Amino acid sequence: MAAVIPSVSKLSSRIIRILGCNPGPMTLQGTNTYLIGTGKNRILLDTGDKNISEYQKNLLEVVKSEQVNIEHIVVTHWHHDHIGGVEDIYGSIAKQPKVWKHRRDVLDSQDDDLPKSYTLNWLNDGQEIKVEGATVKIHHTPGHTTDHVVLTLLEDNILFSGDCILGEGTAVFEDLYTYMKSLQRILDLKPSIIYPGHGNIVEDPITKIGYYIAHRNQRESQILEALKEHSDKQLNEIDLVKIIYTETPEHLWPAAAYNVNHHLTKLTKENKIKFINKDGEKMWQYLSSRSNL
Ligand SMILES: [Zn+2]
Repeated sequence: MAAVIPSVSKLSSRIIRILGCNPGPMTLQGTNTYLIGTGKNRILLDTGDKNISEYQKNLLEVVKSEQVNIEHIVVTHWHHDHIGGVEDIYGSIAKQPKVWKHRRDVLDSQDDDLPKSYTLNWLNDGQEIKVEGATVKIHHTPGHTTDHVVLTLLEDNILFSGDCILGEGTAVFEDLYTYMKSLQRILDLKPSIIYPGHGNIVEDPITKIGYYIAHRNQRESQILEALKEHSDKQLNEIDLVKIIYTETPEHLWPAAAYNVNHHLTKLTKENKIKFINKDGEKMWQYLSSRSNL
């Protein structure tokens, strides 16, 4: 079992973690939000879900007891468990914060659907946001979503990984190719510690990122092997999940199927397997006659 995350933890002189109090199969113990800085004005990274009164109460208590002002709210990506709380905090717990997020890709540009009750400022890759005692640098790391960013705290070589790397288990992603590139990018930053969007602190980032990369490669060969073993049949995502994810509880199968689907798309593009639309059902089959060239 993963170590229990307290609702509020002072992680260092610069960082206070406030748990989003929104536990679930995808959010683990809840979204981790982080108050960053040492002076009067602070940065709040992520805000948890909307309408979570327990979180609002805990955040307000921290803001009062530390006697601070939330000057910036940085959101790692558009998912409701990261951006949802902004509406509740804006104008109340945070008086007049600047709210920051990276833009989504033009092809998936649904940023217009976000609440109009506050103005979003667009983050840029490489941008730095500074408050007393803390400078955070923004790194655009798409894959989980197109707008996903991770942050480095320059004073301490800490990486805030959002949903790109989790404290427990592995992450889901929208695009496998860009996700793998983002993992490599994070590896190149050589962080000494990772504070993730969900789950416990990652004390050995290099090992963990290496594991994530190896894990995806391993999943891919497992999928290919499974299709090869059943090359006389056509299989769907859930068939493959049942063959491969033998240790995954059934309630997590949809998330596993989601990731399997991305591997299947990649393998189909690479001409290693064949996609079949069987009366509306998506199936895949091993391509035994493929050229070795
Ligand atoms: Zn997410």
